[in-house]
Amino acid sequence: GNLDEKYVKSCRIRTGRSVRGLCLPPSISRAERREVEQVLVDALAGLKGDLAGKYYPLLKMTPQEEKQLIEDHFLFQKPTGHLMTNSNAVRDWPDARGIWHNNEKTFLIWVNEEDHCRVISMQQGGDMKLTFERFSRGLKEIEKLMKSKGREFMWSERLGFLCTCPTNIGTGLRCSAHIQLKKLAKHPKFDAIVVGLKLQKRGTAGEHTAAVDDIYDISNAARLKSSEREFVQLVIDGLKKLIEMEKRLEEGKSIDDLLPPGV
Ligand code: ADP
Ligand code: MG
Repeated sequence: GNLDEKYVKSCRIRTGRSVRGLCLPPSISRAERREVEQVLVDALAGLKGDLAGKYYPLLKMTPQEEKQLIEDHFLFQKPTGHLMTNSNAVRDWPDARGIWHNNEKTFLIWVNEEDHCRVISMQQGGDMKLTFERFSRGLKEIEKLMKSKGREFMWSERLGFLCTCPTNIGTGLRCSAHIQLKKLAKHPKFDAIVVGLKLQKRGTAGEHTAAVDDIYDISNAARLKSSEREFVQLVIDGLKKLIEMEKRLEEGKSIDDLLPPGV
């Protein structure tokens, strides 16, 4: 899980979670949304050691603080996609929305963005293993703290964890790296290679943005039918393959024998 930092600039693993018994964003009331915030902030206050942190509600942030957190890739923007706007899920913005994070900003929780809760582990450099270790430990801890107060996440035996967007149902896990691929990004088969490795690419500032300096956000495409560990492993293996291709192209050599089946 340790990736070459010449190419991998940062690692991030996130998932979505919903609080059982409270409505999802399209139909939630303002009072219930505030209850979600309260349940989460109460639980998060119990985190200790490297995970201990503080809650920053959007309503109490200055526009400059908000902008800086977004530019540094820590904070969400007000959702503009059809999923959230057509379902009227962005009502009352920014009421009861906020971000909780530890001091190092390596463990972050988004409150009432697209999901009741997004749990994020991220760090600079290429250590995906450590990113996953912190993610798993923190998430388990939050679950435990919520249960001690009689709350739990929405989970279905058949579907796994339930999120606002159907594409996140299952594990909700998106494991991503910011990876710079100066040569491969210009290869005519780049898009097909990414899909062939069961990966997805986004731009440098996230979904619906463009890549800057050939830095892409590469992550697992699916969230369902594999375990969290398997998805993280799929991304690590895929990133290693992409780096191998990039190095070949740097040497002016062919990557034909490295292409995924069918590409
Ligand atoms: P998600 O909805 O899965 O959290 P988005 O595409 O909405 O992801 O992006 C959210 C933010 O996370 C953006 O600022 C994006 O640039 C940032 N981000 C995603 N992956 C990484 C990564 N590996 N390193 C740094 N920032 C990242
Ligand atoms: Mg998003």
